[in-house]
Amino acid sequence: MESVYIRATPTATTMDVQPTCTVIGGGLAGLLAADTMIRLGCKATILEKAKGVGGRMATRRMGGQTFDFGAQSLFGRTPKFQSMLESWKHAGLIAEWHPDLSARVREKKHPGPYFKGNPAMTSVPKYLAEGLTVHLQTRVTAVRTVDAAWSVETEHNHIFMSQALIMTAPVPQSLALLEAGGYEPDRNALAELRSVEYTSCFALMLALDGPSGLPAPGAMTLDGEPLAWISDNYAKGVAARPGAVTVCASEAFSNEMLEVHPERITQILLDAVRPMIHAHVESTQLHRWRYSRPVRTLQSSFLVADTKPPLLFAGDMFGDGDCESAALSGTAAAEFLHSTFCPTR
Ligand SMILES: Cc1cc2nc3c(=O)[nH]c(=O)nc-3n(C[C@H](O)[C@H](O)[C@H](O)COP(=O)(O)OP(=O)(O)OC[C@H]3O[C@@H](n4cnc5c(N)ncnc54)[C@H](O)[C@@H]3O)c2cc1C
Repeated sequence: MESVYIRATPTATTMDVQPTCTVIGGGLAGLLAADTMIRLGCKATILEKAKGVGGRMATRRMGGQTFDFGAQSLFGRTPKFQSMLESWKHAGLIAEWHPDLSARVREKKHPGPYFKGNPAMTSVPKYLAEGLTVHLQTRVTAVRTVDAAWSVETEHNHIFMSQALIMTAPVPQSLALLEAGGYEPDRNALAELRSVEYTSCFALMLALDGPSGLPAPGAMTLDGEPLAWISDNYAKGVAARPGAVTVCASEAFSNEMLEVHPERITQILLDAVRPMIHAHVESTQLHRWRYSRPVRTLQSSFLVADTKPPLLFAGDMFGDGDCESAALSGTAAAEFLHSTFCPTR
């Protein structure tokens, strides 16, 4: 496969020459896009700003405890994702799980079965990343075209060159990267992408001095305000010892309070959760998911925003705004890219 070589831009201190396809984002969509490209015989490189892979399939350690604080469960509506789930279950990466879902949520979702990461939500992303070229702690700052190739610039002034680009970050973040590079997508593509809307979510992690006392199964939807969800990470099998609880705030609360000081948010959520738990709270961490889930999505599987050079958008904004959508979108984008543009064919 041909590599593309160009001069570094004046702002860059170093240049990495990468063949074929750069994937921005090491969440489920980006990992499966890169994995699919490799399986089809192409080369792909993932650039991920975080310390680890997984994106919104997120697990964190705090005070000797472990917490899932992004996606909580996986479920498959389509045979394709059901078969992925089956293979991950077979590999021991996920296990069946029975959270207590309110009738409202169950109706909106799927009758099940539901799966949890084994032991935690990052098990699948970590497994997928094995054997892939993933540059962690590599925040992309701008994207532009140079001599019919994609030039992707990072905060450390590295430039990754490739013949194709797949963008999987939440849409507003991806569009900001294009804007920073002075690249204007096709008007129709831009209008479609701009129609995607997201909701936000505050996730609060609580390290306790003993068992939470939450009733079995220890994970449930809460229909009140400001809390939407509570999960005992020990009961779930994520934490090795009792006393690790995650609560997620409701959409309405999170959207309204997005810019309020984190200390104030923590206090409000703590006040709401205290009557539900039986142990003393030793420490807390709040995470703000600005783009938690897309609430207005696109019904195609991915979007081709340019062909010369190829630029594709993939992620959970295509479909139903969940892990299944992200997985199917990343896979479909890579299959399309390979069949249409891959120069080895
Ligand atoms: C609190 C919460 C609960 C959820 N619960 C569920 C659930 O129970 N079930 C379910 O199916 N779904 C759930 N979801 C949604 C699910 O997590 C997402 O739909 C899915 O993980 C999206 O995957 P993705 O690959 O499309 O995007 P992401 O996982 O967001 O991946 C995008 C990646 O791009 C990276 N990135 C962004 N900008 C840059 C940049 N400039 N440079 C480099 N990298 C960059 C990000 O760090 C991220 O890793 C939940 C989400 C949240 C937040």
